[in-house]
Amino acid sequence: MTYPDVQLLIANEWRPARSGATLPVHNPADGSVIGSVARAGRADLDDALAAAARGFETWRLTPAHERARLMRAAAALLRQRSAEIARLLTLEQGKPLAEAKGEITNAADIIEWLADEGRRVYGRVVAPRSLQVQQLVLKEPVGPVAAFTPWNFPVNQVVRKLAAALATGCSIIVKAAEETPASPAELLRAFVDAGLPAGVVGLVYGDPAEISGYLIPHPVIRKITFTGSTPVGKQLASLAGAHMKRATMELGGHAPVIVAADADVAQAVKIIAAAKFRNAGQVCISPTRFLVEASVREEFEAGFVAYMKTLKVGSGLETGISMGPLANPRRLGAMQQMTEDAVAGGARVALGGERIGSSGNFYAPTLLLDPPLERLIFNSEPFGPIAALRSFSNLDDAIAEANRLPFGLSAYAFTRSAKTAHRLSHELQTGMLWINQAAAPWVELPFGGIKDSGYGSEGGPEALEAYLQTKTVAMTLV
Ligand code: NAD
Repeated sequence: MTYPDVQLLIANEWRPARSGATLPVHNPADGSVIGSVARAGRADLDDALAAAARGFETWRLTPAHERARLMRAAAALLRQRSAEIARLLTLEQGKPLAEAKGEITNAADIIEWLADEGRRVYGRVVAPRSLQVQQLVLKEPVGPVAAFTPWNFPVNQVVRKLAAALATGCSIIVKAAEETPASPAELLRAFVDAGLPAGVVGLVYGDPAEISGYLIPHPVIRKITFTGSTPVGKQLASLAGAHMKRATMELGGHAPVIVAADADVAQAVKIIAAAKFRNAGQVCISPTRFLVEASVREEFEAGFVAYMKTLKVGSGLETGISMGPLANPRRLGAMQQMTEDAVAGGARVALGGERIGSSGNFYAPTLLLDPPLERLIFNSEPFGPIAALRSFSNLDDAIAEANRLPFGLSAYAFTRSAKTAHRLSHELQTGMLWINQAAAPWVELPFGGIKDSGYGSEGGPEALEAYLQTKTVAMTLV
């Protein structure tokens, strides 16, 4: 499959923008233009909104069993097409092909699980205070959804929203990332090809602020969901608040990793170093602030550096590559700035710390040692292949540091002590805590953050709750 000129999806038709406008799409491995994406204007958005309103009327009246059947058919198509879609994803985003393939098959898994969970959306019968009364609690789809998703997991970020919305009977307009438009388009194509009625799913691209500024206040849209940075999330959440729209916000993090002296250090290194450099660190739950107990620091650091030396950085399409380029030149600039800022503050570079080559957005896997706490790297999410390490000498200090930042998305801990694990489970301010393991955000687990990392969950039964509204019906029998 050659890289396409990506079109808008409106009422089950793939079409260019009415104005004919497009945006270029680049390959992050060499900077070349590989295709284009249609740039929607106001008229296209009006078409998409009208289609979503009609789609909702059809879909909310489609029985949950039928919805699940169509969703499972889409998941099967996705599995069949996974090799080609993965190639498009790597071309536009940069991650190694094996990671891209995993993202597609995981998307199919997510669709299947949420499809089935959608068949188990139950209301309640509440015991009445009089025998003449029947009291019911009904769960209904909230209505047409507007979803805004980023470029780091172009398919995964869409599918968690799309599948939960569809499972509950909502229609959805997705505005996926303009930098990585082809793989989300293929995800939606699987649903259209599986036989979803027109208007149930829509896909638009264009100017993100223009689109969100129009869709969020629009009366057709009843819920918004966004994954991206905390500053943008706050803007969109306030717009949603001003228009009384339900919202789910999956925002940035800055995950602490606490390695206690009683941990299996070799095992911890193996698990967490691999997690760190997955998708070149462009992962909202990427481990970023490494806090290692002083007595095992040397062993951890040596093991981490040894692991980093085994990483093969290159184009994600080449075989044997373990880390691809950063997805866009903005991340490259951010990595350079964070490294320079840390070094200026007295941090040492154990390995990496520089761009690789002069074409493509390649940055070396980097370990920064002992940056002062006030430096950028220990305060802003790196969203790239940089790990920063400091020591601690008692657990209170490690917990205080973990909780110091306004974020609370993901945290990691390595310890053999049940007492330490128990304490961390209760005291870390985080939406997700992974102890002695890498993050395993299976769809059956709630996925989401607290504090400035947002609100709402994109996994487990909570994922569906976000797209449901509650209606109380009390009836006196006459
Ligand atoms: P950004 O904050 O400009 O954009 C993040 C995402 O939000 C992009 O997909 C963008 O298209 C979208 N966006 C931006 N403004 C928008 C608006 N007004 N309305 C709707 N969508 C909008 O930054 P960026 O350079 O693309 O990414 C940098 C930072 O974003 C990273 O450092 C990271 O903190 C965060 N990020 C987080 C995730 C995540 O999974 N939580 C994913 C991607 C980026």
